[in-house]
Amino acid sequence: MPFSSFGLSPALLRSVADKAYPAPTPVQLAALPAALQGRDLLASAQTGSGKTVAFALPLLQRLEHIAPSQPRLLRALVLVPTRELAAQVGEEIRGLGAHLSPPLKVSIVFGGVSINPQMMRLRGGTDIMVATPGRLIDLIAHNALTLADVAMLVLDEADRLFDLGFAEELSRILELLPAQRQNLFFSATFPPAVQTLARTLLRDPVRVTVESEPQGAPHIAQRAIEVDAARRTQLLLHLIKQNHWSRVLVFVATKHATEMVADKLRKGRINAEPFHGNLSQGKRTQVLADFKASRLKVVIATDVAARGLDIAQLPVVVNYDLPRSALDYTHRIGRTGRAGERGVAVSFVNAGTEAHLRLIEKNHGLSLPREQVEGFEPTPVDPAAGPGGDTSGNGGVKGRRPSKKDKLRAAAAQTPR
Ligand code: AMP
Repeated sequence: MPFSSFGLSPALLRSVADKAYPAPTPVQLAALPAALQGRDLLASAQTGSGKTVAFALPLLQRLEHIAPSQPRLLRALVLVPTRELAAQVGEEIRGLGAHLSPPLKVSIVFGGVSINPQMMRLRGGTDIMVATPGRLIDLIAHNALTLADVAMLVLDEADRLFDLGFAEELSRILELLPAQRQNLFFSATFPPAVQTLARTLLRDPVRVTVESEPQGAPHIAQRAIEVDAARRTQLLLHLIKQNHWSRVLVFVATKHATEMVADKLRKGRINAEPFHGNLSQGKRTQVLADFKASRLKVVIATDVAARGLDIAQLPVVVNYDLPRSALDYTHRIGRTGRAGERGVAVSFVNAGTEAHLRLIEKNHGLSLPREQVEGFEPTPVDPAAGPGGDTSGNGGVKGRRPSKKDKLRAAAAQTPR
């Protein structure tokens, strides 16, 4: 079923043609007809599935035929959990609306940067807004906008909105919206809070389920390499050089580790930068822009980068530290092999994290063969030595953390007799 069969306007079809998408993705096939008819939508879809296009086209198509007013009235609101996702989604909507005449104004707002320029840009109103919830509320408090005319609401990555503690902001925003509106609800997972919100928010929604990435993504080659925790950076350097990886996104457990590993890679003459929540917004934007433009080879990130980032043709993701949960694993490896491209996801594992990786595999119905790289074989573990080797600090290794008894034993062993 080609894009031309959805009844999209000529201007939108032109934008889609500019993008040269080979065909609609499964989430687009399932969501577009219903959303274009004005129905509410409850979609279970990962980032990377093409979901932004699935909600952006219906927003644009509906607003295209509304006569422009002065000032412009905010008709479509897209709520997203992170600044990066806001920028990415906003740009994608702008791109898809590029041929509309008269043009629609798409505003992107998020926290962590000064509010004044955002307020200035909102003078004269806006048609579409992509926002993180906190900054949206700040702008309303400054009388920079009103939600009274919103006819379409998109919640993107709803589960992540809750993970990041936006529940309160979300309910305040929902109270300010007109009752009569179309709701498009996207989430990768459906924990109870998200289900409750979906139930209260949506009217007779069309349900869209797209298979989650790891099982349904044969184009992502998932590998597990055994290596001692202390030798991971050396192995990473070796793999990057030996495999001629052009761009690599590496996940670590802490902000400190992003700095440390990036530093060591730079000493090994690999162009690498850390990426975490404590960096200034300017720095984060710069790192992402450099990475996207291939001026930067490696980004070492905390899970802040795991969701929402859309970096086309990212060939490799490395779990230097394992993610805390099976769900984070999904999000991390979903940064590669996007929209049909091929990708590699490598996880480093050692004696201390083996049990945790097995849990993740079990959760996803995976069984990854353990590989070793010549020259980086792990030191054999003495089972009598008890749990050890886990320097990841991921804190999620069930049954592997030292028990109270272990700690008492260790303390006793260290006490001078
Ligand atoms: P999303 O799930 O919205 O984050 O989209 C992930 C990526 O898929 C983006 O880079 C889109 O440009 C791309 N994309 C969206 N629709 C299609 C399509 N029909 N075919 C190929 N790529 C697509």
